[in-house]
Amino acid sequence: MPSAILVLNAGSSSVKFSLHDRDAAGSFGARLRGQVEGIGVAPRLEARDEAGRDLVRRALDRSADQEAAIACLLDFVSEHLGPSHIAAVGHRVVHGGIRFGSPVRIDDAVIAEIERLVPLAPLHQPHHVAAIHAVARIAPALPQVACFDTSFHHGQPPLARAFALPRALSATGVRRYGFHGLSYEYVASVLPEIAPGVARGRVVVAHLGNGASLCAIHEGRSVATTMGFTALDGLVMGTRPGALDPGVLLYLMDEHAMDSRALSRLLYHESGLLGVSGVSSDMRVLLASDAPEAQEAVDLFVYRIGREIGSLAAALGGLDALVFTAGIGENAAPIRAAVCRGAEWLGVTLDADANARAAPCISAAGSRASAWIVPTDENRMIARHTYALLAASDAAG
Ligand code: ADP
Repeated sequence: MPSAILVLNAGSSSVKFSLHDRDAAGSFGARLRGQVEGIGVAPRLEARDEAGRDLVRRALDRSADQEAAIACLLDFVSEHLGPSHIAAVGHRVVHGGIRFGSPVRIDDAVIAEIERLVPLAPLHQPHHVAAIHAVARIAPALPQVACFDTSFHHGQPPLARAFALPRALSATGVRRYGFHGLSYEYVASVLPEIAPGVARGRVVVAHLGNGASLCAIHEGRSVATTMGFTALDGLVMGTRPGALDPGVLLYLMDEHAMDSRALSRLLYHESGLLGVSGVSSDMRVLLASDAPEAQEAVDLFVYRIGREIGSLAAALGGLDALVFTAGIGENAAPIRAAVCRGAEWLGVTLDADANARAAPCISAAGSRASAWIVPTDENRMIARHTYALLAASDAAG
């Protein structure tokens, strides 16, 4: 069985990538991670090994588009692999719609279906589709696999997925899908090793990064999440407002003559921590700032997490564990402390020293519900899925 899996996460002006090997333990740690950034402006290829040492830092031709960028990174990875080779490419795809409840080997019909979902994720999905086409043109024989951010939520109970809209509209696919699924799936997969006592219980995972959401997990499966039809719902994020009375949008359209482009800019790029603080979307900057507006933005971020934890605890019928992950969840001790304080009524008692040390378990001995830090690794999850699908098709063939 071949072993090197290339994972691609294509965005509007960047392609992030990582290369994963199956080791003896069946794990898929990344042997390198990198990105091409600045596509369309000043593209640069960069990659680092597992220890964070630079492997390459190179400016690409200014005219390099996404396909040229992918060609360059494929060349770089192939050179790096020497006599070995890339066995398959696994793509992160934001939206899997109703159909894709699990990762899938890509063929023409799958590409068509992923393209059909572009209107549901217009900022992300077109770039995933373009990357899939690019790999198919550059290396037609290379197997490709799509892994969806929505799939982990696919099995949620119908009530958790429903909007109270007319049935005819819901039947067209207007329902809650949920996102960050690859992150939640990874966390759920490692939780039995890290926190064996609670992994089968009622767990709320807080994925707090630039994008932020919570997921209620019971017996390893998603039962509810804060993101909905798009990745706009739920928590306050770096530049997104999270849950917003839809009446605000009607008002802005009628009274401020905002059209969908203007609303999209407002909702995806100008709101959230950035909009409230007027300082930055970056939590590190806000925590270091003296501006009262920065503190207000942080307070609102934490307050809304607290309210949503209550909502997900209700969906779970209680709480056994709270898990923090992603950039803010893994690194921002003051945010974890404030969130845990807000969850004291659910039985969470913080161990301040453990939190400051970023120990995996950050709740005090005797805490009725425990609290944990579990670093996420979406790319490793994609590598595992891609390998498993290849192995299954090799076995079938
Ligand atoms: P993305 O959603 O882009 O993958 P990340 O998971 O990388 O985002 O999270 C980015 C966020 O994590 C930023 O707001 C950043 O400020 C925050 N972050 C990273 N390190 C720290 C830290 N040491 N303290 C506070 N916030 C941090």
